[in-house]
Amino acid sequence: MELKELIERLDRLQAKKKAYSHATGMLYYDSVTGAPKGGAENRGNTLAVLSETVYELSAGEKTGQLLSELIEKSGELSPVTKRAVNELWREYERTKKIPESEYIEYQMLLNEAENVWHSAKINSDFKSFAPYLEKIFNTNIRFAGYFDPTEKPYNVMLDMYERGLNTERCDLFFSQLRKKLVPLIAAVSESSVKPDNLFLKQSYPVWRQRQLSDWLMEFMGLNRNHCAIGETEHPFTIPFDKTDVRITTHYYERDMASSLYSVIHEGGHALYELHTSDELKNTCLGSGVSMGIHESQSRFYENIIGRGRPFCALLLGKLRELFPERMSGVTEDMLYSAVNISMPSLIRIEADELTYSLHVMLRYELEKAVVEGSLTVSELPGAWNDKIKEYLGIDVPDDARGVLQDSHWSGGSIGYFPAYALGSAYGAQMLAKLKESIDVDAQIASGDISPISAWLEDKIWKHGSMFDPAPLFESCCGPFDPTYYTDYLTRKFTELYNL
Ligand SMILES: [Zn+2]
Repeated sequence: MELKELIERLDRLQAKKKAYSHATGMLYYDSVTGAPKGGAENRGNTLAVLSETVYELSAGEKTGQLLSELIEKSGELSPVTKRAVNELWREYERTKKIPESEYIEYQMLLNEAENVWHSAKINSDFKSFAPYLEKIFNTNIRFAGYFDPTEKPYNVMLDMYERGLNTERCDLFFSQLRKKLVPLIAAVSESSVKPDNLFLKQSYPVWRQRQLSDWLMEFMGLNRNHCAIGETEHPFTIPFDKTDVRITTHYYERDMASSLYSVIHEGGHALYELHTSDELKNTCLGSGVSMGIHESQSRFYENIIGRGRPFCALLLGKLRELFPERMSGVTEDMLYSAVNISMPSLIRIEADELTYSLHVMLRYELEKAVVEGSLTVSELPGAWNDKIKEYLGIDVPDDARGVLQDSHWSGGSIGYFPAYALGSAYGAQMLAKLKESIDVDAQIASGDISPISAWLEDKIWKHGSMFDPAPLFESCCGPFDPTYYTDYLTRKFTELYNL
């Protein structure tokens, strides 16, 4: 076949894959926002029908044949087409190893598990979710064996979210964090500085909090014509295309900071997706490259910008406007200290910047133990509670605030968590690099962060999935070094807690 025709077929394949991903993604989004509970079965049937075609497009014979012909003509392909073909081939090779019936069954399991997890979390009833979680773990282990029988299953899972990541690298990374952060956390808890955040736990009407979200999205430069915000139990971002990215948040009347930082976090994910290059728009490369790089962006905005002193000054101005009665007497210093209180807590997404990576480390250790077979799913709640006690010294009152708190496992994402800590560390190293050319603090204080975003767009966002995460990171920051992260945290919390 002529190269021109092969490329046309490739374009059609990518357009179809994108359309199916749009449709299934929208069904998911709808299921956690507006869909009535009773529609789950019907949605499951629809997903099963769509999954058949998704499977065929990823791993069907026609796809395999087209890709192998293109690989033979590799030398004649543009860099973008070549990368797209290689990525699709990788997916083809993996997916075809999963028998079609198992693939479809798994999609249906996830759809059902999502609903069961929702009810289980509300009722703090791990037992009702356990059989589903067990199936999800077992399926992931089986699939990992299909993908690469020579590799440890958990390494295969880690690699799916962050190419090149494995337990060896994770163990080393977490041990470096543990060494530096555990003594720092202990010093903070012994400090006589005890900041107060009670003013953040008063009643903040949700309709006003929605106005705050609008302001935050504007500050971040999120184009509302292409980025919408919804409300769900657990905040997340779902990109359909660079012209349609959805973020969600959860408003708590008596915890205004929860939604505030969720919006900034998810907004960081959205910026990345919205600013992938136009050249990649209709290819499989028009989305963020890995979970670690993605989290580096979301956590950069959430913590480095959002919990930094210059932003807190701006934020206070807006809060005074929206909640004058709550903010009377609150100073910049009080707000900055309040949003940076470091205290052992139960919920990962609400954990402070300093203790956060311990929450991640705990999940990493538990996932690894279940996948390696040294822990059963039914033992998870107990093991969870023991580790929280060991690392943070607190008791878990119920599973809703323990093992059931995250949506990742019910969504089949096993091996995802380390990316959160890795992303935080990537972000700190990016900050050091950014500071070489931009006065970051002054820029944030001015209220115009566009030069910072432009730097990230140029170094990270625009490249979509053109490069693997490690070389992409190294191209802007040099070799990865977690010391940037531990130094950043040490500087910040030493100052905050007068250590
Ligand atoms: Zn995130």
